[in-house]
Amino acid sequence: MHRYDEATDELARAVFGYALERVRMDPPPLDGTRSDRELAAAAGPTVTPHGIGGLAALRIFTDVLAPATLSQDHPRNLSFVPTAPTEAAILFDLVVGASSIFGGSWLEGAGAVHAENEALRWLADLAGFPAGSGGTFVSGGSAGNLSALVTARHTARRLRAGPAPQRWTIATSGGVHSSVRAAARVMDVDIVAVAVDERGRMTGGALRARLDAMSPDERDGLFAIVATGGTTNVGVVDDLAGVAEVCGEWGLWLHVDAAYGGAALAAPSARWRFAGIERADSLVIDPHKWLFAPYDCAALVYRDPELALATHTQHAEYLDVLHESRAPGNPSHDEGSGAGHTTRGDPSEPPNPSDLAFHLTRRVRGLPFWFSLATHGTDAYRDAVETTLATARAAVRLIDRRSYLELVLEPELSVVVLRRLGWAPPDYHAWSRSLLAQGIAFCAPTTLHGETVVRLCIVNPRTTPDDLAVIFDSMA
Ligand SMILES: *Cc1c(COP(=O)(O)O)cnc(C)c1O
Repeated sequence: MHRYDEATDELARAVFGYALERVRMDPPPLDGTRSDRELAAAAGPTVTPHGIGGLAALRIFTDVLAPATLSQDHPRNLSFVPTAPTEAAILFDLVVGASSIFGGSWLEGAGAVHAENEALRWLADLAGFPAGSGGTFVSGGSAGNLSALVTARHTARRLRAGPAPQRWTIATSGGVHSSVRAAARVMDVDIVAVAVDERGRMTGGALRARLDAMSPDERDGLFAIVATGGTTNVGVVDDLAGVAEVCGEWGLWLHVDAAYGGAALAAPSARWRFAGIERADSLVIDPHKWLFAPYDCAALVYRDPELALATHTQHAEYLDVLHESRAPGNPSHDEGSGAGHTTRGDPSEPPNPSDLAFHLTRRVRGLPFWFSLATHGTDAYRDAVETTLATARAAVRLIDRRSYLELVLEPELSVVVLRRLGWAPPDYHAWSRSLLAQGIAFCAPTTLHGETVVRLCIVNPRTTPDDLAVIFDSMA
């Protein structure tokens, strides 16, 4: 198996041929979904004692499996948060796959991590984070939110003078992403719910009112506020400046989850909505959502990465060489009291990415993003995000022109929510299924205040107003 021979060469040509053809498709077919039973029947047994051969496996992928996966980069795939990687980013993902780079440590991955950090720095600068800030790329917003909140609690625990609180608690709004609730379950912390305004935003005033109303026990264990920089359901940005003000007064960690919306920091027309983000302690932005990187790639940035190192660094007999190798003869960098201090000696060197989140082995998943940024420049990113924002504004005009449609909420970013007058929930679902079955578009309905509505999430610069018109006309 570990040999490059003639058969491998033939397979290489076939695999690269497939990849090249897929990258060249504009647009790719939307494709669809199939039941497991149908797939088993169509594909037949594939994992066998003697192997079926690479060309045969590739044929099954091409003919059976790939058509049963949706193209997330199709310009009329507007469900959930789709993706739209650049050609440069996709091509470089092939290079990353070919290169066997361990991205967890500086010792093993210095060159790649250096480049990832350049891309991360661009995001940190867009957010207005200070020079010493930094972080790493993790698998997704979920992993980023969990890692940031674990760091926040670890920091609170270390700074605490008295006994441990009965319960650790975070405060956030109903607009928060489900992954934050999931992180709270994993961490066994409680969530205090902050009311939202009529647009669905958490404001500093509402946060202050909720904190003032907390019981002494809740207040005792409160360690972080999670604000959302672009809610996934409707794309509204919390009042980050107001929330940051309250966090400052209360001495609370501010985590901003901008997994979807953070890309809009690159767009001058939307940047102002994020005022205050520069005061966050930690920040998550997913380049695999709206910054044109392939899966899976989420940026996790800390104002003070030392706090993350003190939280996440793993120690083991065979790992400690990674810490010592960075600072021979100078093994102690104690953050203060308590367990879990790191042995990082020279803070002027970038830290090991493994030590900044809940992971150890790490693909250098920021490299395709870096390569595309380096290829095209940040101006092209600004323009591409602005294009999607303009398409969202065009959607509003197209809706206004159709008497059977009604805009539900003026879009702040690139999520457009609308209703079809006269439709009941089953109508929305039947319409959505039919569009997908015909290979026209994928537009999954959502609910807002209990009402079923259409939600279009535009992250693809190739999505045009004409694409939206096709979708809107199909609702007539
Ligand atoms: C998508 C999303 C997440 C989860 O990110 P994954 O990359 O899917 O793990 C978290 N928060 C927000 C606001 C999101 O939109």
